[in-house]
Amino acid sequence: MTFQNELINWYLINKRDLPWRHTKDSYTIWLSEIILQQTRVEQGLPYFNTFLENFPSVSDFASATEAQVLNLWQGLGYYSRGRNMHATAQLVVNNYNGTFPTLHDDLIKLKGIGEYTAAAISSFSSGEARAVVDGNVFRVLARYFGINTAINTPEGKKQFFKLANELLFREDSALYNQAIMEFGAIQCKPKSPKCSICPLNIDCFAYRNNVVNQLPVKLAKAEKKNRYFNYFILTEGDKILVRERKKRDIWQHLYDFPCIETEMLLDGNDLDFVESVKNIFGNNAEITFVSYKKHLLTHQIINVQFFSLKNYIFNSSKHEELNWVSLNTLDELPKPNVIRNFIEENF
Ligand code: SF4
Repeated sequence: MTFQNELINWYLINKRDLPWRHTKDSYTIWLSEIILQQTRVEQGLPYFNTFLENFPSVSDFASATEAQVLNLWQGLGYYSRGRNMHATAQLVVNNYNGTFPTLHDDLIKLKGIGEYTAAAISSFSSGEARAVVDGNVFRVLARYFGINTAINTPEGKKQFFKLANELLFREDSALYNQAIMEFGAIQCKPKSPKCSICPLNIDCFAYRNNVVNQLPVKLAKAEKKNRYFNYFILTEGDKILVRERKKRDIWQHLYDFPCIETEMLLDGNDLDFVESVKNIFGNNAEITFVSYKKHLLTHQIINVQFFSLKNYIFNSSKHEELNWVSLNTLDELPKPNVIRNFIEENF
């Protein structure tokens, strides 16, 4: 039996029953694909259901506010993806009459849709002959064919894309693509793949040569950058001072607190630090350390310190990005996880 037939047979018996596998609607598939880029299936499923309940069609999605979208997105990280989805929904309504595209060449022009997602949506919704290449596919191909080119290099990507497209079962690209991805997700897993009961083990290079754990090859990533955010908690009655993050940076358009970013982790008594706090909040401002959290992002480590502030003077006309909001309103605003957790623990 061929590689393709083995995979499809295995899939028909072992596949998980997932809601987005029962539809050819490109909008619904797009929702699932973008959410699953962020998280594993079990964690992504409730997000998928919530998005579909709130926005049953692309027009519903487009007419939501960005804050509503980011609120539903909370907890998934990479907030730019939530914003890109909103922009894409609006573009589809304006330029495609509200009909979500199904062809690769239209999809690839949309914000937040790269090569993998365009191939997946076009193949699953219209049967277009495009091979999807995600982490699962890289792993299955690297192991089965014994390819040791690093998968996160341009050369590796080119080689794997070429092979994936040569192997594509063109009569039913959706079925084949689903099969190889699912096979990578639950059979040829990153750790402890089920090689002894694998239908491909007779011809699998990695299994036969005892190099399963060495494939696929990935080059080590550059070290993550450390950043140091010092947040100040100012309250007045049931109001709290918040900042909308308007700059082009992580967490753009989410809400946090007044912040001073420093080059290193500073003690609340550090003279330069105290001086910069007094420049903003007046000479009598008293700083009290509350807590420290380390927050890991894909490319950055955010070291977060929270300080409460008393006896401050705050001149709102000098700080347009800062606003007083009630704690109830703060609940509704989209926030990074580290801020959401702090509020839950302290208010
Ligand atoms: S034998 Fe093991 S490594 Fe090879 S394809 Fe099967 S599960 Fe993957």
